[in-house]
Amino acid sequence: MTDFGKTLVERLESRESFERMVIMNDERTGLEVSVIIHDTTLGPALGGTRWYPFPTRAEALVDNQRLARDMTYKLALAVGEDTELAQAGVSFGGGKAVIRGRPTQDKDRRKEQLRVYAALIDSLAGGFVTSVDVGTSVEDMITMKKVTKWVAGLPKEMGGSGDPSPATAHGVVWGMIACLEAVFDTDSFRGKTVAIQGIAGKVGSILARDLARQGAILIGSGGVNQSAAQKIATEVGAKLVPPDEIYEQQCDVFAACALGGILNDNTIPKLRCRIVAGGANNQLWEPTRHATMLRDRGILHAPAFWINAGGVINVAHELHPGGYSQERVFADVKKIYDRGRTIIEISRKEEVTPYAVAIRLAEDRIRKARRTARQEHVDDPRQRPAAL
Ligand code: NAD
Repeated sequence: MTDFGKTLVERLESRESFERMVIMNDERTGLEVSVIIHDTTLGPALGGTRWYPFPTRAEALVDNQRLARDMTYKLALAVGEDTELAQAGVSFGGGKAVIRGRPTQDKDRRKEQLRVYAALIDSLAGGFVTSVDVGTSVEDMITMKKVTKWVAGLPKEMGGSGDPSPATAHGVVWGMIACLEAVFDTDSFRGKTVAIQGIAGKVGSILARDLARQGAILIGSGGVNQSAAQKIATEVGAKLVPPDEIYEQQCDVFAACALGGILNDNTIPKLRCRIVAGGANNQLWEPTRHATMLRDRGILHAPAFWINAGGVINVAHELHPGGYSQERVFADVKKIYDRGRTIIEISRKEEVTPYAVAIRLAEDRIRKARRTARQEHVDDPRQRPAAL
């Protein structure tokens, strides 16, 4: 058996790895979907639906598991006890769904597949609340909402939370400030150089505009659409460099805002920065080893599931009993800064990576909630958001 096959079997055989996995292959519509609920100790699982042409079912399942687990960690940290959400009695566990295949552009067929998928979500009776991710759109969520109420990420005009990207970028700025304080003893971006990979993206462009306003010197790179990258670079006064050259730019902060897995054996030695802090998910190719490699190079790394939680905080606020409020969202997004200070402080004191600390804090919170639930003799600690 290949290493990949072993990993898959180990993961699927491990009882600890997830609470529930539902796989559906709907012959009539050709829909192939898996929903993995990783942990609901803190509340119903919240997580996006990714629609992606994974080459094999095994790869789709392994990625689904990893993404679901990351959501548990992200939400355990982001919706901490001190947040507006938690204080209103709303908190979340982690889950994720993966539709395997190329997202169809045929509108009628797409709607038909989404309705079948929404019925599956509905059958989970609130154990999993889903939203937009790579390959799915707000329109898809509107289609699904007609079948099930367990959908979030709707447009503002429908009472939803709208595009999460501004909140994600806002959270990244707060996370960067925590890093600046730790490394340079300042909370100011004035004169600091930030290299943004993916400067034309939804998160990257908002981040670039905000940092330019705060006096940062910017370097950027874009993807296939170089003219879009040039446009935003000109607007914010950034130097645009070819995609491969972004890693070796002399800067204070390297902000990955495009792809996952970009911090690896090949790129980490090239970095000439003191801080790595950006919005992209799963930036570390091999999380534990590459987090250590960054630390050994004297680079402070902000774990993605800590620093990019602004978007999920925004979506989660759709489920606040008082309804969506931008003011409450921004109060909770600002907590990313507080969380960051704690993570960095512990990592320095114990000489371990921020990645390891962030996971430990998330797991501690879940363990504590489990203990409390046991002490209170609660049979089923899962709660549902009162708003739904
Ligand atoms: P996006 O698709 O709008 O932006 C990504 C940008 O990166 C695009 O402009 C693309 O052209 C560019 N790009 C692609 N390959 C590149 C390369 N090799 N070098 C430089 N640029 C490249 O996506 P987004 O919504 O801005 O998300 C960016 C990242 O942040 C993703 O990893 C996403 O998972 C993560 N994220 C986004 C949100 C959100 O609220 N949008 C929330 C959490 C995490």
